[in-house]
Amino acid sequence: MTPQAIDSTAFADSISGMALFFDVDGCLIDLAERPEDVVVPAGLIGNLERLSARVGGALALVSGRAIADLDRLFAPLSLPVAGQHGLEWRATPTGPVERVPVDRAVLDRLATALAEFAIGKPGLRVEPKGAAVAIHYRQAPALGPEVIALADTLLAGTLGWHALSGKMVVELKPDGVDKGAAVERFLAQAPFTGRTPLAAGDDVTDEDAFAAVLRHDGIALQVGDREPTVANRRLPDPAAMRAWIAHASR
Ligand SMILES: [Mg+2]
Repeated sequence: MTPQAIDSTAFADSISGMALFFDVDGCLIDLAERPEDVVVPAGLIGNLERLSARVGGALALVSGRAIADLDRLFAPLSLPVAGQHGLEWRATPTGPVERVPVDRAVLDRLATALAEFAIGKPGLRVEPKGAAVAIHYRQAPALGPEVIALADTLLAGTLGWHALSGKMVVELKPDGVDKGAAVERFLAQAPFTGRTPLAAGDDVTDEDAFAAVLRHDGIALQVGDREPTVANRRLPDPAAMRAWIAHASR
């Protein structure tokens, strides 16, 4: 089923009863060539702050980025957040960050293998993500199949880990941690619990969050036209998502 297109005025009357879960890159902000080059547009931070107040604090970021990175991008705003697809977790804006325990020996072996593969291939970039490791090939798209094959080879004998492919990136991470689990964890506690959940995102990793909110009769909002998706609503791009947030925060 194709998601239904909405506009910036959607859900205006029901927003105050919602719990909101927002992916960041490609959803709230435009993708950049390199993750460190993204720009948080003027106005977005203030709108998010007002929107969070409108939903009684039930607004969380659910991102592949590390929480420290998200705090830096959105400063001075601090929100409940799940980082690294749920490997990191902070239930409240200023509470402690919890981390899923990780087998460092496995992580080090995988990171070393990716780094060795990237030697002499200038378009590849290996990004340590605390409890996971990612390899980006946006600047060398022709190497994509080789990167994916390498990930499969590395993980063939590694129990409890899996590869997650996103837009020009493959991430190697422990099992049982995804954006859907993060959303479920938020929904089990105040101020999120009992509200109608809405999850917005653009990438394949957001499908777990979409499935989670749909289990709670919520709204799965796909940003962009990626298919297939289980989302039931759609906005065309991050600019439209920001326009929706601006309207919803009024
Ligand atoms: Mg995204």
